[in-house]
Amino acid sequence: MDGPNRRTFLKAIAATVAAPVLGSGLSLRSLAADPSIRPDYPGWEELVRRNWKWDKRTRGAHLVGCTGGCPQWVYSRDGVVLRDEQSGDLPALTGLPDPNPRGCAKGNCAIDYMYGPYRVKHPLIRVGERGEGRWRRATWDEALQLIADRVLDTMVNHGSEAISVFSPAPAVAPVSYAAGHRFAHLIGAHTHTFYDWYGDHAPGQTQTLGVQGDVAETSDWFNARLILLWGANPVQTRIPDAHFLTEAALNGTRVVTIAPDYSSSATKSDLWLHPKPGTDAALALALARVIIEEGHFNKAFVAEQTDLPFLIRSDNHRFLREADMIDGGAIDRFFAYDLRTSQPVAMCGSWADQPENQTAGRRSYLGRDTLSFADGTLALGDVDPALEGRFNVRLKNGGTVDVRPVFDIMRARLAAYTPEIASKLTGITAPAIVALARELAGTSPATIITGAGINHWYHSDILFRTLHLLMALTGNVGRHGGGVNHYVGQWKPVPSAGINALAFPCGVDQQRFSQTTIWTYVHAEARDGLADLDIPRHLRESLASGQMPLYPRQGRPPKVFIAYRGNYLNQTKSQSDVLRNLWPKLELVVNINIRMDTTALYSDVVLPSAHWYEKTDLNFTEEHSWVHMTEPAIAPLFESKTDWQIFVALARKVEATARRRGIATVEDEEFRWRRDLSGLHAQMTDGGRLARDEDAAQYILDQSPETAGMTMDALRRLGPQRLLSNWTSPMEDGVPYTPFRYFTHHKKPWPTLTGRQQFYIDHRLFLELGQELPVYRAPLEADRFPLRFNTPHSRHAVHSTFKDNDLMLRLQRGGPVLEISPPDGHERGLKDNDWAELWNDHGRMICRVKLRPGEPAGRVTMHHAPELYQDLIQGGSQSVCPVRITPTHLVGDYGHLVFRPNYYGPGGSQRDVRVDVRRYTGPVPTGL
Ligand code: SF4
Repeated sequence: MDGPNRRTFLKAIAATVAAPVLGSGLSLRSLAADPSIRPDYPGWEELVRRNWKWDKRTRGAHLVGCTGGCPQWVYSRDGVVLRDEQSGDLPALTGLPDPNPRGCAKGNCAIDYMYGPYRVKHPLIRVGERGEGRWRRATWDEALQLIADRVLDTMVNHGSEAISVFSPAPAVAPVSYAAGHRFAHLIGAHTHTFYDWYGDHAPGQTQTLGVQGDVAETSDWFNARLILLWGANPVQTRIPDAHFLTEAALNGTRVVTIAPDYSSSATKSDLWLHPKPGTDAALALALARVIIEEGHFNKAFVAEQTDLPFLIRSDNHRFLREADMIDGGAIDRFFAYDLRTSQPVAMCGSWADQPENQTAGRRSYLGRDTLSFADGTLALGDVDPALEGRFNVRLKNGGTVDVRPVFDIMRARLAAYTPEIASKLTGITAPAIVALARELAGTSPATIITGAGINHWYHSDILFRTLHLLMALTGNVGRHGGGVNHYVGQWKPVPSAGINALAFPCGVDQQRFSQTTIWTYVHAEARDGLADLDIPRHLRESLASGQMPLYPRQGRPPKVFIAYRGNYLNQTKSQSDVLRNLWPKLELVVNINIRMDTTALYSDVVLPSAHWYEKTDLNFTEEHSWVHMTEPAIAPLFESKTDWQIFVALARKVEATARRRGIATVEDEEFRWRRDLSGLHAQMTDGGRLARDEDAAQYILDQSPETAGMTMDALRRLGPQRLLSNWTSPMEDGVPYTPFRYFTHHKKPWPTLTGRQQFYIDHRLFLELGQELPVYRAPLEADRFPLRFNTPHSRHAVHSTFKDNDLMLRLQRGGPVLEISPPDGHERGLKDNDWAELWNDHGRMICRVKLRPGEPAGRVTMHHAPELYQDLIQGGSQSVCPVRITPTHLVGDYGHLVFRPNYYGPGGSQRDVRVDVRRYTGPVPTGL
């Protein structure tokens, strides 16, 4: 239709429609303005205003496995939650960018989980097969009775340890976390580790520093002059923190991305280096070699703060110990060679100097508690420890032995990592390696920001040791703007004393913990494909000697599995084996949830849990140093209850059922604990003192030195409050938290065997495997398949949370996809959006493909953990990722290397997997 004709047509339409209604002389505008005709129409502006009016504003937090810890305001009207937004009341630190507003788009889909289609509204009992999705509605009384009966049956017939309770990430919702753990603790059930299981905890940090998961808050990035984003993509995965990165860059900080992908963070970097996947340790060791050979390393820092001057015997490759030289000498006192006196000299602060705290574990995140040592313990004074040379030392048997400093041995071994050799391994040119080494050594302070991208490899521990080595050589540890900062998961439960006191009222030592990687490997009879490494032998030795725990004992299977606040089945490695072998062993699977996720779908009973904006809890993160809270904007919707109230009700039901059956106590021979079921409810609520969620939250604040004196009321009225103290550094007004200053500045010993950052581990197994020093190990070749499988975290989801959110899905393809490079796709006859089958020896997944030019050839990617009911014909990303145990992670009898929940143990290696892909031509279910 041309212009005039079209205008004529529209005029005619307008006349036809308007004339009969309005008559002559009236227009829409005059109608809207005439109160006699539309008295209730106040103008469009007022309609918009009404839409945004609220009658109640409450504090909120997103209680998911997100490190964000973003304080929210939640707005409601007439008992309906309308929207949330960042509260914007985090104070800025001195001279640093404003931390507000702190949040992300996915987080502000929180309300969709209150009113959306996936909400679990009532207690449900399965009527179909597990996973089939057929349920019947039950009353709370019926559902709790079913659970209580099976819990009691199991306690009596199999022992309490056959009951398993799983819930991760205490930092994000410590009251909810503690609810189920307190119940488990009181009945004797075993609970689970989670940071190691998810691959959040870096074993290499524990091995080197004797610390579990301490990092700088992210505003400290602004203090760095050089930032290495090593396998990290904070623009996608640390959305509320990424502005500190760009603000640092605008302030002149150089940003280097080291990752195979040209990621959204790489686009904001000054330099992008892209090593071949899994070869990062070779690059790091080459950097270390250049820094040492060119004399750029910080000798004073290395001599005082690391074990690099410590002497190693040439005959058995172990540390020279006092017990080697003196009758009755300590086996845990170590020596350097003093160049001034030409004598071995004992280095202060080692394990032997504090025997009373060797196993105390008063702080669950430290290998030992060294904070009670005097300041200055590590100071060398007149001692001038040799870093190089060979020396002869007299032994107590009259003989002599050659000894060398660790540094001397390491320097010799670094000859295997010249820039040229590393270039062949990594694909990065030798000049680029040399240039980066010089830049790292010459720019201060410098920091490494890293995460799951390198921590999910099978040999992640030795890789992390190489990163710590770089920071130690350059003296960047314990400095603002420095250090290895490993952000992944939500792994720092800052007020751990309070959380533990609430969750385990009789003490952590009286609680059964299963190491979840081992638990899943054993009970799922997981096939790891690592025949050459004989993992079962290593595991048998570790379990038999008590280095790592497993429940139930004596190879018996678990009978009852209660999961809440965590999507175990969605994210389990060896998912096919878990469904095939572990799930049938479980006589009852209970899930407590706000939504019907994968674990709920495969459960027998699902209990509706209150949403984050329907309950009171606290929220902590390692990414900033403020505690904040969530509170009920409305009462729990439908029939849901808070996690705390659910477990209080379950305790009451178990108590009543036991009374009815005439069971007053159950004997627990392992802990010599007669479990008193007649008072279970009173124990759960501490005689009523912890009856309310708010009481439990206040209890955590009261019991933790980091928050003692704070009140829930103050958090509500005044907003986020800064932590009073922190794990390994003092808190200073206006200054960002950066860890380890008690060791580097106050010079208290590091919580390791040697009392120093420990790069040499003379444990038998480390020596046997050639890993006593940081070394490069190539990615696994156990899977004989051509493509690497990469499962990064998503911009649009927090693990599985928000994965099914319609708004988030609209920003993507609308469902899970496998990303493949066009050459690899074309080679397999794949077109964009085809269905494809991905498989290896561990399982199979059928999903759509996306041909993505940015995907490196030889690798395929799926953002991890789609729900099994999403647009997949079969399986999920975890179907092809096996549980694989790294032998050195099983060590639990070496100084600071001991099992403590979420401190040390085997973790996830889901990036070290190979697969193949082919076009899928089978039937496609209706609706996909
Ligand atoms: Fe912050 Fe995480 Fe919530 Fe996003 S989802 S707003 S990053 S807490």
